[in-house]
Amino acid sequence: MKASQTIIETTERIGAHNYHPIPVVVERAEGVWVYDPEGNRYMDMLSGYSALNQGHRHPKIIQALKDQADKVTLTSRAFYNEPMARFYERLSAFTGKSTILPMNTGAEAVETALKAARRWAYDVKKVPDDQAEIIVASGNFHGRTITVTSFSSDPAYRRGFGPFTPGFRIVPYGDLEALRSAVTANTAAFLVEPIQGEAGIVIPPEGYLRDAASLCKAQNVLLLADEIQTGFGRTGRKFACDWEGVTPDMYIMGKALGAGVLPVSAVAADAGVLGVFDPGSHGSTFGGNPLACAVAVAALDVIEEERLVERSATLGDNFLKRLRTLKHPDIREARGRGLLIALEMKSQARPYCEALKELGLLCKETHENVIRFAPPLTATPEELDWAFERIEQALSAT
Ligand code: PLP
Repeated sequence: MKASQTIIETTERIGAHNYHPIPVVVERAEGVWVYDPEGNRYMDMLSGYSALNQGHRHPKIIQALKDQADKVTLTSRAFYNEPMARFYERLSAFTGKSTILPMNTGAEAVETALKAARRWAYDVKKVPDDQAEIIVASGNFHGRTITVTSFSSDPAYRRGFGPFTPGFRIVPYGDLEALRSAVTANTAAFLVEPIQGEAGIVIPPEGYLRDAASLCKAQNVLLLADEIQTGFGRTGRKFACDWEGVTPDMYIMGKALGAGVLPVSAVAADAGVLGVFDPGSHGSTFGGNPLACAVAVAALDVIEEERLVERSATLGDNFLKRLRTLKHPDIREARGRGLLIALEMKSQARPYCEALKELGLLCKETHENVIRFAPPLTATPEELDWAFERIEQALSAT
């Protein structure tokens, strides 16, 4: 077995440097815990950027994976398969939407949403050809494809990747009047994260989503909610839109839909929107594959059976309250919803993440000065007490 140092060196020597990992090698994992090759144990407070809401290797989900692997793993969409039908029924019930389109990664689901919105604009709203506009919010993170980076407001995500896809307008996040002013007769959709995860867990002002939803409805503009990071209980609600009682025209989902076992993403909307796709207009070799669908059904089962949404709300509330008791001159703010929690520092977050790693807690900074705490929603109160003590310790040492 190779030691961590060798694994890290090989990775850094051969791999492209498009990530800057914390220097820890994860060799195996269970629940909230991960282990390195030397046998050190860490608590995972990042959860694969919220893909592991159900915890690492949840037995029910691994069993579903194994059972399905013994039957059939891929049919391609040239043929039908039973797990996909089951997945459609389950996700349709979960979202309250009549129609589902499965993909694999989050960025692909976002691309799917954008294509659906554009075609809907031409076929249903009767926007003149090639004139459809989609409004997005500053600080957004929706993935890394060329089109998605075309409307990023972060230069680091865009530098050197032009020319970009036209047809997008960026308005300040949380500013309803800016959104109102940006809407034209050609606006197809407003694409938004109900809470901006990668931007540093930014929660918009109270009422923003609700008012944006009413504005979209009044202007015949589709509201596309990117719930890839915030969905499936992460924020203490099924979807973060639920915090304001908002039902978007489309849910864009990924991450925890595959429970950290396989990449599974999907969009859900009513037939009036997703009905714009006809054969050949969109697809993916692996989207809707039986293995992924079996995993996703089990992922949804676990969320419901283990009441992970309620659990996230209660545990998150307590954790946030405790973080707010911390007195440290470098803390700017503790904020969050459910178990999507930010501790914003006045200085760089990275040294704190490195200190926490030494104490057995794995987190990753987001946007320079925010430490994100997003453990699996299956964490026990005792495990989170343990995490809190490590945070106290790391802060008192720095
Ligand atoms: N949208 C949001 C809100 C995300 O947080 C992410 C990933 O962090 C994505 C889209 C992209 O998902 P993926 O990395 O699976 O393409």
